[in-house]
Amino acid sequence: MFSAYINKEGRKLKVDINKFINNYKRDGYVAYCNVCNNILNDRAGSSLTTKTHFWHNNNPHCPTVKNFKSRYQNLKFRYYRLEQKQKIVNSVKENLSNIYLECKHLCNNSLYYNEFQNLLKMASDKRVWEYAHLDLKHVPYCLLTLKLKFTNKENKGRSLNMFFSFTNQYISDTLWIDFTAPVELIKFEANTKELLQIIEINDNFLKSDLKNKDNYLKKLSFLLKVIY
Ligand SMILES: [Zn+2]
Repeated sequence: MFSAYINKEGRKLKVDINKFINNYKRDGYVAYCNVCNNILNDRAGSSLTTKTHFWHNNNPHCPTVKNFKSRYQNLKFRYYRLEQKQKIVNSVKENLSNIYLECKHLCNNSLYYNEFQNLLKMASDKRVWEYAHLDLKHVPYCLLTLKLKFTNKENKGRSLNMFFSFTNQYISDTLWIDFTAPVELIKFEANTKELLQIIEINDNFLKSDLKNKDNYLKKLSFLLKVIY
């Protein structure tokens, strides 16, 4: 990655790799990862196609690290609550249009129905509806973290490739997303792992008043069968 931050007199200052090397490194400043807050080192490019960049030398738990996402895909959640499932499933069905539109919005306003269908199916298969402390407001964001990446090859409407991850996500042998602690969603460019956006999680998407909500829900009704 090419950007990081330094701690300058107690404040976070965003720096790119060139600025860091030319202005701060020699004064003893340390670069930190925007995502996991761990120390980053700078590494010279190994060939003409790889430029000098920041890297985590020894931290496999950062979502920006190669292979993080593929390992994440196979992990299981730690605490399931079967008794909350029906309530969540019902709320998801009732608010499906708002959930869809929030997911679409975050995918640079381009998400096909069949892509959304796959996310819902993955959530059902992975028992996301039973994740302890899962609230309806987490649902669109949780759905977006399930897919390895959203490419512009599969959806020409998207201008770039991206993937999503939560900020407070710890990896050991099981997946742990602590929904009781403040959670943010982070959006990355899928190839460079550059941080694109930090999304605050709240339920504003549920409040947006859809003019033709009933029509929308009818249009999405074919998706109800993959929410189980
Ligand atoms: Zn990191």
